[in-house]
Amino acid sequence: MSLKKAILNSLFKNNQTKSLIKEFYYPELGPGMMWEKCQEIITSKGGTVYLNTKVNQIYHQNNHIQKISFQQENQTFDLQADYFISSMPVTALVLRLEPSAPSPVLQAARSLKYRDFLIVALIIDAVDLFPDNWIYIHSPEFQVGRIQNFKNWSPAMVPDSGKTCLGMEYFCSQGDKVWSMSDRELIDIASQEIVALGLLLNREKIEDATVIRQLKAYPVYDEEYRQHLQVLQYYLKTFDNLQTVGRNGMHHYNNQDHSMLTGLLAARNIMGEKNDLWEVNTERSYYEEFVIKPEKTQIAITG
Ligand SMILES: Cc1cc2nc3c(=O)[nH]c(=O)nc-3n(C[C@H](O)[C@H](O)[C@H](O)COP(=O)(O)OP(=O)(O)OC[C@H]3O[C@@H](n4cnc5c(N)ncnc54)[C@H](O)[C@@H]3O)c2cc1C
Repeated sequence: MSLKKAILNSLFKNNQTKSLIKEFYYPELGPGMMWEKCQEIITSKGGTVYLNTKVNQIYHQNNHIQKISFQQENQTFDLQADYFISSMPVTALVLRLEPSAPSPVLQAARSLKYRDFLIVALIIDAVDLFPDNWIYIHSPEFQVGRIQNFKNWSPAMVPDSGKTCLGMEYFCSQGDKVWSMSDRELIDIASQEIVALGLLLNREKIEDATVIRQLKAYPVYDEEYRQHLQVLQYYLKTFDNLQTVGRNGMHHYNNQDHSMLTGLLAARNIMGEKNDLWEVNTERSYYEEFVIKPEKTQIAITG
């Protein structure tokens, strides 16, 4: 919200515009529940969902995707289809095309960059440490970038209500100092930092911890990304039965709602609509400010 608008709102008690959402639906055990339900619906309608399955090759001819080759453990299979929608990183998609994409397209794909991420989950013997869902840490003397308090998103995410689980988030790049630390070192740093920040008084209260690493968590917007992405967009548009969706699928800083919207619009395109998926989420101010109707429940949107 602009400062001017914030002051006017507070003076005239105009609360139609909000910059922070106070109420939202959150799945009891986290967003994964939506995808478990989705899988259930697809399966109940006779569809198949393959998990732990890696697409290795995407075969095409005359601007048409013919089939994909995928791997489950050590076995590979082929799958033919009329239409293909891809949410894997767009760079990975282009590098898997068979025959290979032209070299300027491969070059553009190799030039797009990603930011990686890891989270150290600390299980703490404390009922309630602070009321926030998350806290951003900007201070240069700390390596942690954000702290999640999972119990405040949903109490069911911490099975023992006497404990708290904090997610200490570190934004990093594969191979850098933070990424390369052992789990033990990371747990040690996270434990030191939560105490140094004053959010936990006594380190002895930390009962257990685990580390989860996630490659390609964020598409990087550097000076050149737009021109590289345009090369990929133009090339991929030449295929008559392929659409890319989602965050890394479009190298676009989409949140979950926008990622889902691109998927829905892609499905409608197959049914005959003509939606331009690249037009979804082009307005960043969406995140900073929006007008609500009173008494309408909001869905949480985050960065
Ligand atoms: C730390 C963090 C916090 C976030 N918090 C929020 C939040 O609070 N709210 C919100 O709305 N959004 C949040 N987001 C964003 C949200 O997670 C993404 O917008 C969303 O998950 C993108 O969905 P997607 O389907 O495009 O991609 P993904 O969920 O990344 O799915 C892509 C899938 O493709 C698979 N894949 C990749 N390569 C292959 C291959 N070769 N073969 C087969 N499969 C492959 C991957 O394994 C993955 O399962 C957050 C993101 C991060 C990183």
